This record gives sequence, structure tokens and C-alpha cells, in this order.
Amino acid sequence: EKIREVLERVQNSGRHLLGLINDILDLSKIEAGQLVLSLTDYSLKEVVQTVFTAVESLAAEKKLALKVTLPSDLPAGKGDERRITQVLLNLVGNAIKFTEMGEVRVEVATQDGAFRVAVSDTGPGIAPADQEKIFEEFQQVDNSSTRKKGGTGLGLAIARRIIGMHGGRIWVESSLGKGSTFRFTLPVR
Ligand code: ADP
Repeated sequence: EKIREVLERVQNSGRHLLGLINDILDLSKIEAGQLVLSLTDYSLKEVVQTVFTAVESLAAEKKLALKVTLPSDLPAGKGDERRITQVLLNLVGNAIKFTEMGEVRVEVATQDGAFRVAVSDTGPGIAPADQEKIFEEFQQVDNSSTRKKGGTGLGLAIARRIIGMHGGRIWVESSLGKGSTFRFTLPVR
């Protein structure tokens, strides 16, 4: 039991470092103009399921309900599946990280040839003055909650770049104390 505890800490730290390294590498690629998309046919439903499986236990540990709404007739998309998964994982991961009670919800729809994805939470919310700032590199909301929860402040900057390269848009709707909804659009093809 004693060894297990230590090994779990080693494993968690390893995962944390890998996350940091990958974020910094992505940022370097973006800055060098070397982030290229690898476009293939993909199923957005599978992307959502992959993300769900990855974060299910994190949500359960915090006793948060994790809900997904997916239309049954989603068309096949064309895009960089790995990068799109990365964006959704970042949004859902943040929602779980910053929410202490309630639920995290993922909703998918299609409209005018684009997927519309929303990730909402019942967390602390984000003040209007911070809502654009958080999409910039290394920008975090300067409050004790963010400081306590760590992170690099790179995830949303990378997400904005990936969505932009696909011809989509990403933004947040939120008010303090009322949770946040991150939304993005993504051309189906
Ligand atoms: P990181 O999570 O590593 O700090 P991000 O770029 O993903 O970096 O997020 C930047 C900042 O935006 C976070 O540090 C936090 O202050 C704020 N933020 C992101 N998502 C949420 C959310 N769901 N609820 C409240 N604040 C959020």
C-alpha cells in the first residue's frame, strides 16, 4: 500500500510533466509556423466518446455529473481528429478542473455546414474583462482558484489556433458565479 501511494504520485507527476511538455511543444510549433493539420474523415461522435472515456473518472472523483447530448444523424467530418480531440479534451478538462459542484455538459449540433459544440459547467464563471484574455498565451484568471489548480495558461491559446486553422471560431459565454459555456464552430468539411 505504501509503495502504491508513492508510485501513484510518480505517475501523476509524470503525466503532469508530459502535459506541460506537449503544451510547450505545440506553442513552439505554432510560433515557428510548423503546426500543420493532418486532414482525414472522422466521426465527431467518436471524438466525444474518446473524451468522455478519458475524463469520466475525473468527474466521478469530484462527484460531478457528466452529460452528453449528441444528435443521432451527425455527418462525417473532415479535419484533424487528434487536434480536435485535444481541443475538446482541454475544454472538458478545464470545466471539470474548475467546477466543484453540479455538472459538466457537452452538446453537439450542426448548423449551416458546421458543427457547433458547447461545453458548459456550473463552476465559478469568468468575469467579462477576462473572457478574451484567457485565449492568449500564458494567460490565466488571476484568482486563488486558478492558482490553486495549476496549469500553464496555454490550452485555450492552442485551442483557438487549432479551431482557427480549421476555419472555425471559439469563444466563451460566462458571468461570475453562474458557470461558463465554451463554444466552438467547426466546418463539417
Ligand atoms: P490552464 O487551464 O492550463 O490554466 P487554459 O488556457 O486552458 O490554461 O485556461 C486559461 C485560464 O482560463 C484558466 O487558468 C482559468 O483561469 C480560465 N478558465 C478556463 N476554463 C475555465 C472554466 N471552465 N471555468 C473557469 N475558468 C476557466
